[in-house]
Amino acid sequence: MNRERFDAWLRNIYETQDEEISCTECFDLVSRFVELETSGRDAVAELPKVKQHIEQCRACRDEYETLRDLARFENEGGAPSLDDLRSSIR
Ligand SMILES: [Zn+2]
Repeated sequence: MNRERFDAWLRNIYETQDEEISCTECFDLVSRFVELETSGRDAVAELPKVKQHIEQCRACRDEYETLRDLARFENEGGAPSLDDLRSSIR
C-alpha cells in the first residue's frame, strides 16, 4: 500500500466512524425511530444514523425489530400476548 492510498484509507475509516453512532446512542434513539415509523413519518430521513446502525449491528437490529413489533401490536389495539412477546424476542 503506498502512502497516498494509506492516507485515503485512513481518512475513510475516520470519516466513517464520525458518522456512525454507538450502540448506546442507537439504543437511545431507536424507540424514537420506531415512534416516527409507526406514526407514518419518514423515520429514515429524520434519523438516518439509526437506520445505518441497525443495518450493520445485529444486536441493535434485534432491539429495533422487537420495539417495532410491540408498537405494531399496540397500533392494532391489542396488547401482545406472552407468546407474541416470546416470539418477537426469540
Ligand atoms: Zn449496535
